[in-house]
Amino acid sequence: MVKETGYYDMLGVKPSASQDELKKAYRKLALKYHPDKNPTEGEKFKQISQAYEVLSDSQKREVYDRGGEQAIKEGGSGGGGGRGAFRSPMDIFDMFFGGGGRMHKEKKGKNIVHQLTVSLEELYNGSTRKLAVQKNVICERCEGRGGRKGALEVCAMCRGSGVQVQLHQLGFVMLQQVSAVCGACQGQGQRMSHRDRCKTCVGRKILRQKKILDVHIDKGMKDGQKVVFHGEGDQEPGLEPGDIIIVLDQREHPVFTRQGEDLVMAMELQLVEALCGFQKPVQTLDNRTLLVTSHPGELIKPGNVKCVLNEGMPLHRRPYEKGRLIINFTVVFPVENFLPLNKLKELERYLPAKQEADEPEAMDHDLYICADLEDCDMARERRHQRHYYYVEDDDDFYPGGGGGGVQCQTS
Ligand SMILES: [Zn+2]
Ligand SMILES: [Zn+2]
Repeated sequence: MVKETGYYDMLGVKPSASQDELKKAYRKLALKYHPDKNPTEGEKFKQISQAYEVLSDSQKREVYDRGGEQAIKEGGSGGGGGRGAFRSPMDIFDMFFGGGGRMHKEKKGKNIVHQLTVSLEELYNGSTRKLAVQKNVICERCEGRGGRKGALEVCAMCRGSGVQVQLHQLGFVMLQQVSAVCGACQGQGQRMSHRDRCKTCVGRKILRQKKILDVHIDKGMKDGQKVVFHGEGDQEPGLEPGDIIIVLDQREHPVFTRQGEDLVMAMELQLVEALCGFQKPVQTLDNRTLLVTSHPGELIKPGNVKCVLNEGMPLHRRPYEKGRLIINFTVVFPVENFLPLNKLKELERYLPAKQEADEPEAMDHDLYICADLEDCDMARERRHQRHYYYVEDDDDFYPGGGGGGVQCQTS
């Protein structure tokens, strides 16, 4: 039992969630609430990150499960961080989506992360999707200078330092020194007169541009897999451009669930099919029809799991190899009274013999208690008023001389 479930609730998973489930939950929520897409949900983005940071670390998760959020804030994990120190949500996001390390980040423009919803069919067959993204590009007209060449001059207000120092007088002799970012040049230390500014980017050096990407989805790719377009991210003067990272998000399929390279499906059989064999068509993800066959004499029991080799997902980069198609069987029994009673006797002849109960004669009770079966829901309500039928151990109740086992009298 976990002490509290707040972090799990935040990610929308059960406390029993596996690392894969946690990753998936974080991935979806982080992309949804990232400030780029949802600028008003900063607090939520932060909470999701904290929850994931704790739960994705097995040590911290254990501490949380035992002592709740309080224990985490007190830093009971023993390792790393300080008291209650969480990493920044952006760091967690960048680590998760492969934005490169800290060193990298300094020299590179921002990465753009997008989620692309794909069908299981697309992951099976491969596909190319067009995706429109908005990104910052360096203005071509001024080559990212923001204006006419040589028009940049040292800011007169701050003399190029980007900072303005002001002295405030407090009382007679006390002076307070206040530094502030220079308002005239926005801390750049350089400025350009309005006349010289580039007309295209209005001196901002960069422009928003729409770009269409062809996203190639290879056969066998997985939910959560990334397709990276190196250097296609935001451009910024003086920096290497960032990447565009596309994260695949697989839509659930009505028939198949993927488990690694295997596909899993449920199949419902009628009792007669389970006993006497069947052929059932299954539409594959590339639109072939498999005739799943159980030959007469084979028998499928409820809960049996069988598989068809080479009908699972293709392996990524080795698409000619495929996993298995795993089929979980359920068996539908006929409805009550599907046969008249006399026919039931006949059916019994074909089925393996009943297991004989202990001979009533061998027991030294003189009273047998016959208990009827009820549906459990009903039985719960009627727990306090159950009825037994008392059957006297009398030869009259054993038609045919006692060989037929215990009979109930329900007058
Ligand atoms: Zn320009
Ligand atoms: Zn200035």
